[in-house]
Amino acid sequence: MIRPPVVAIDFDGTLCMPDNTPVPFAIEYATAWKEAGVDLILWTCRGGDPTDQGNWLGQAVQWCRERGLEFDSVNDNVPRIRALEGRVEETRQLREFSVKPYCDFWIDDRNACAPLTGQASHTGRGVVDWAIVGRYVSRQINARWSLPTEIPLDPRALV
Ligand SMILES: [Mg+2]
Repeated sequence: MIRPPVVAIDFDGTLCMPDNTPVPFAIEYATAWKEAGVDLILWTCRGGDPTDQGNWLGQAVQWCRERGLEFDSVNDNVPRIRALEGRVEETRQLREFSVKPYCDFWIDDRNACAPLTGQASHTGRGVVDWAIVGRYVSRQINARWSLPTEIPLDPRALV
């Protein structure tokens, strides 16, 4: 595929533990994808102005930034996709009625079949097991896109 992959990543229980520490390997995989040219969406139930650290969304964006992770968009399509919408009338009209951004992969602790670790989470279900999900998505990206950099599969190679 010519277009770079787009990955949407949830915050609570996916990137961040209830005690405000990172979910193991989450930052490492997301950073490796970003460095390889993947477009990243922070896709979370947290609302508000992402530039205002006085609300939960702004605090999440800042939490990621402090760990070296910058997203291409927050709760919205990435600029590359937004640009496409402006050129394709039918797509644009559809998007006006949808709050779901386009992506190739969703990573969320609420996914029905998300592999979860046994670690406590705010939902009581566990947090995303990035050793499984990160490896899976990295393998898919390496196989389906011709990015300049091969993404390491093993999380221990990312630390
Ligand atoms: Mg969550």
